[in-house]
Amino acid sequence: MILTADRIRLAAQPADKEAAIREAAQLLVESGAIDAAYADSMLRREGEADTFLGNGIAIPHGQRGDRGLIARTGIAVLQVPEGVRWNGEDVAHLVVAIAAQGDEHIAVLRRLTDVLGEEALAARLARTGDKQAILAALDPDAPLPAADAAPAQAPAAAPGETLTTEVHAPAAAGMHARPAKLLAQLAKGFDARITLTHGDRRADARSMIALLQLGAGPGAAMTLSAIGPEAALAVEKLRAAFADELGDRDEAPATPADAAPAAAADEPLEAGAIAGLPASPGIAIGVLHRFRSEAAGYAETAADPAGEKAALEAALEAARAELKTVSAEMAQRVGDKHAAIFAAHAEFLEDPELLAEAHRAIEGGASAPAAWDGAARSRATALAGIGDPLLAERATDLKDVARRVLRHLVGGSETVAPVPERAVIAAEDLTPSETANLDPARVVGLVTAAGGPTAHTAILARALGIPAVVAAGQGVLALADGTPVVLDGDRGRLIPNPDADAIRRAEAARARGAERAEAAKRAAFRPAITQDGHRVEVAANVRRPEEAIEAVAAGAEGTGLVRSEFLFDERAEPPSEEEQYELYRRLAEGFGGLPVVLRTLDAGGDKPLRFVNHPAEANPFLGLRGLRLSLAEPALFRPQIRAALRAARHGDIRIMLPMVDGLADLRAARELIEKERLSLATPPVEVGIMVEVPSAAVMADQLAREADFFSIGTNDLTQYTLAVDRLHPTLGARSDALDPAVLRLIQMTVQAAHARGRWVGVCGNMAADPMAAPILVGLGVDELSVSIPNVAALKAQIRALSMAQAEAVARAALGCATAAEVRALPALRALGEAG
Ligand code: PEP
Ligand code: MG
Repeated sequence: MILTADRIRLAAQPADKEAAIREAAQLLVESGAIDAAYADSMLRREGEADTFLGNGIAIPHGQRGDRGLIARTGIAVLQVPEGVRWNGEDVAHLVVAIAAQGDEHIAVLRRLTDVLGEEALAARLARTGDKQAILAALDPDAPLPAADAAPAQAPAAAPGETLTTEVHAPAAAGMHARPAKLLAQLAKGFDARITLTHGDRRADARSMIALLQLGAGPGAAMTLSAIGPEAALAVEKLRAAFADELGDRDEAPATPADAAPAAAADEPLEAGAIAGLPASPGIAIGVLHRFRSEAAGYAETAADPAGEKAALEAALEAARAELKTVSAEMAQRVGDKHAAIFAAHAEFLEDPELLAEAHRAIEGGASAPAAWDGAARSRATALAGIGDPLLAERATDLKDVARRVLRHLVGGSETVAPVPERAVIAAEDLTPSETANLDPARVVGLVTAAGGPTAHTAILARALGIPAVVAAGQGVLALADGTPVVLDGDRGRLIPNPDADAIRRAEAARARGAERAEAAKRAAFRPAITQDGHRVEVAANVRRPEEAIEAVAAGAEGTGLVRSEFLFDERAEPPSEEEQYELYRRLAEGFGGLPVVLRTLDAGGDKPLRFVNHPAEANPFLGLRGLRLSLAEPALFRPQIRAALRAARHGDIRIMLPMVDGLADLRAARELIEKERLSLATPPVEVGIMVEVPSAAVMADQLAREADFFSIGTNDLTQYTLAVDRLHPTLGARSDALDPAVLRLIQMTVQAAHARGRWVGVCGNMAADPMAAPILVGLGVDELSVSIPNVAALKAQIRALSMAQAEAVARAALGCATAAEVRALPALRALGEAG
């Protein structure tokens, strides 16, 4: 039991908040849960964050870095009937002190939020003379006690009769994310207050998070209640939706969560296999299909130059519109970073020289398609011939966009037709557009004769979840259409005409991978605690408030990085304080009290803002970027800070400063933040920094005195440490965050932070690399923040690790000479492949 009667003190009369915290902490000390020094940690935490929950309940707890002072997880309750002033106007009557080492307290915390929603119950607990009443109210396994005179049903504010009906959670997998999302969407469509009750838990049906928290397993019986003008309609429609299993009929039956990863699939591949480079993981079994881009036919000449020019303009316009759509679609599917490829393509359509050359050809008697094709080809050939890898990459892009315009001029489809079921597409190389257009329902794999694993095509294939092998040589193009093949994207092999045994092994490997992913998904809500009891928080990187629900549904324990610059992109004017406040408030509420690490604007340099006029820079990555820009433009920075501080009242918002290069800028930013906070009279929030400039890692001991937390941005830290442009088209292989130089900086940062009781996260792409996760855990990183689709798998990987293994592999990695040596460590390969 983490809360027992001897840890409850009734009718306490502490003189002030500090005395209340010390008295509650003392109850934990006396029961042997914590070291006495933990009380100081609780007080320090108050300086960083507001622990007042509402309805007279406060939850003081220590700083994350002081978990070492906790012997075992415990909770103590100090009841203060007369109340003790907490912050500002807030008065606490129940001081619930929490010392959490693992996640055992989470059920109690969740119960506290239930109590929080019952004002009358909270008021009764503040005055009760019976410890059992408090114990019962906070016992997650007991039914929530009714408050005195509490209304039995929905509030009187909703007029009419409450209608109820019994419904059942989908039989296959219970009330998991997908049905919960559908139900929440449906519930929002009725003018009625709709609740769902399962056992003693009740959820507002419009809240997907609340629905997930019901914990309703497969087929579980629940009560659906509705009150309000459309209650009858809501009950009828929702009962029908439940009868239809909330669209979840095809879900695979649930199996035990977190099935142990099967033995490593290390069987050798047979002779006859074509070797290439692994570009996107996974196994595909299918038939080979040669990708042929359509050779559109057109007349070479035309008699009406004005008409041809108009046709070209119309085709350009259509291509522009299409690129906008593709870019938006890809942003949805794989993120803005990859979508930017298509935004870049649009630039070619405005190229005055290219257009002038096409116009000249038309005036000389060429048809619009001939003129356009000729102009684009000659420019692409010229670019490719210069010998500069950057320009060669642009040539591929130009050919890609030229084909798009041509298709609008002469008609026809851009993709091969018809693609058979389970196609493994073979091509010389694919352009990003061609890759983006592949239908994942039909295309199960991708193999190219040329290309490289860091090319946009490979990145897109990974983002689309299509297994891919690149640089496999011309042999793949000699294979006939329809040849049965096995494509191994993990090892970079293509096996033509596999025998029964090869197919059986491929199927087994694929089933193991799928099973692992499914098991990870099912266990997504379990915390990431290593086999030997060390907890690592796993959060999601997000950009917009709408992603909060998706992140929580994927198992994220908050967001470790909100890239707020999305707000400032593509805008002629900066967003107002009010506009930002709305977005941040929605974010905080979307995460339902989980931590929201809001990074202030990280623009400048390679991401210029239209409304900031500063001179062009020769080395933009080394220029006015991130926090430097914010400090130089207080008119931009101040509204963002004010909006964040105001929104922090609605959740656990923390402010994170990007591109901090040393103490001077951190101090200047903190000064500005504190000034705004005082003028708004808002509670304190944690202010942390990103460690992405080597100087910040080297000076972490100094910075840890004044930053509340660190989050390591390994994308930039790697770029600056190894002096490799993170967007460089050909030096990608040199830019490996597993380089021991980067690892040593991470180690320095963690050690310095922990010495000061600060927590450290990693929010760069490295956190999602299965080979990196064991090392980061072993180096003592407290939190990993990754893109939403990676959350469940990362949590499962951590649960399969032991801290002892992780520390050993981290030590070995720090002793390596190169990234390649690190990746070749046998112990790391074993741990990484389990990921
Ligand atoms: C990083 O640099 O690792 C990071 C997370 O920031 P961004 O990728 O947005 O620069
Ligand atoms: Mg960065």
